[in-house]
Amino acid sequence: VQNPSQAVASDVAVHFESALLPDGWASDVRVGIAGGAIASVERDVALRAGDESASVGLPGVANVHSHAFQRGMAGLTEHRGPNADSFWTWRELMYRFVGRLTPDDAEAFAAQAYIEMLEAGFTRVGEFHYLHHDPDGRPYADLAEMAARVVAAAEEVGIALTLLPVFYAHSGFGGKPPSEGQRRFINSVDQYARLLEASRKLVAPLPHSTVGIAPHSLRAVTPEELSAIRPLAGDGPIHIHAAEQIREVEDCTAWSGMRPVEWLLNHAGVDRRWCLVHGTHMTDVETVRFAASGAVAGLCPITEGNLGDGVFPATGFLGAGGSFGIGTDSNVLISVAQELRQLEYTQRLRDRMRNVLAGGPNRSTGRTLFDCALKGGAQAIGLRTGIEVGAPADMFSVATDNAIFSARSGDQILDTFIFAGGDCCIDTVWRAGRRVVIGGRHIHRDKIEARYRVALDRLLHA
Ligand SMILES: [Zn+2]
Repeated sequence: VQNPSQAVASDVAVHFESALLPDGWASDVRVGIAGGAIASVERDVALRAGDESASVGLPGVANVHSHAFQRGMAGLTEHRGPNADSFWTWRELMYRFVGRLTPDDAEAFAAQAYIEMLEAGFTRVGEFHYLHHDPDGRPYADLAEMAARVVAAAEEVGIALTLLPVFYAHSGFGGKPPSEGQRRFINSVDQYARLLEASRKLVAPLPHSTVGIAPHSLRAVTPEELSAIRPLAGDGPIHIHAAEQIREVEDCTAWSGMRPVEWLLNHAGVDRRWCLVHGTHMTDVETVRFAASGAVAGLCPITEGNLGDGVFPATGFLGAGGSFGIGTDSNVLISVAQELRQLEYTQRLRDRMRNVLAGGPNRSTGRTLFDCALKGGAQAIGLRTGIEVGAPADMFSVATDNAIFSARSGDQILDTFIFAGGDCCIDTVWRAGRRVVIGGRHIHRDKIEARYRVALDRLLHA
């Protein structure tokens, strides 16, 4: 038996009893892999000697929005403070946590978050990276020190990376000076251009990885700055936080007479290359216009629920032809299945209906959600997904020997995975053709977890 930690992306084949291909379910699927990409997809063929085998194969999903270091805070902000808690009180706690984080901590936390993403079926991550400078707000000797740590974590763990260095300059609309808690995030436009250039060099050696730009939000970036950094995107994706909070919408309206999504649609040239993260608070007109722009909605239903943001108008948005990807954002919980389930359940609870996002009569809700997240996710992070020739060999298998899958086939397997099973059903995950998760565990979990425990203990108890 080959030692999995030494397995490299050599020519191998994986045989699935059934697999979800771009045109639907197929039986006895044999996926040939060369150089980390899918070289062939055969149907109705038997398992051959030397093939890796699994029961049900699904394409790996993109996580469009992550702040990896926040994984270390998961569960520490569920204790009520002296006053009513909100997104804004959570943010104060996050700023305090950020205050002491070292580059080593950032790398340890990112590696832990990324193995958990792979174990949960995410094979690629869009890292919305805003923690740039030392605790006093001074740039490190290497301006891209913190970006390098994110890249190192992704490389060690084997997840594909879309690095989205964040441009952050202000504490509020209209160019308000940044607050103390934000000093580690702040760059000038010139510094940001250098950071992007350095980030591109760092990411270049990683297979199937790329760099985009991320103006943080209209709270943190002026229209002039947005225009200045916009051309730096090149062909890469452009991500921005928008309309996550009611107060943000009110402040934006007071500043510009427009709501955040409305302002972006009117002034920023939003198109297919953009991902508007959250977009929670929109009018019906904004919802339809956003859908028509071709941009992707980066939805993070678990974090949006955790932070009390509100409910995204998914029925109106998808009804108007909108595209979405899912993100784990604060990483309070990392799961493809649970993000999709939470997205559907928020709509059910609001509308007091069932199968709200199925996309029409006689369709599987799980299948529609999965297909949309796969397609929108790939668009938003600028990388291909799917079990098809030419795409990176990023796949995961669901262990259907679990009793909850009894007598299920096709879309029922996805519905059961998303609504009844979840992460414990994930067996093997292939990334660039290599098995990085076996039996539900990342091949380097012991080492990465040990480093994470030490870093967190030091940060919280030193
Ligand atoms: Zn975010």
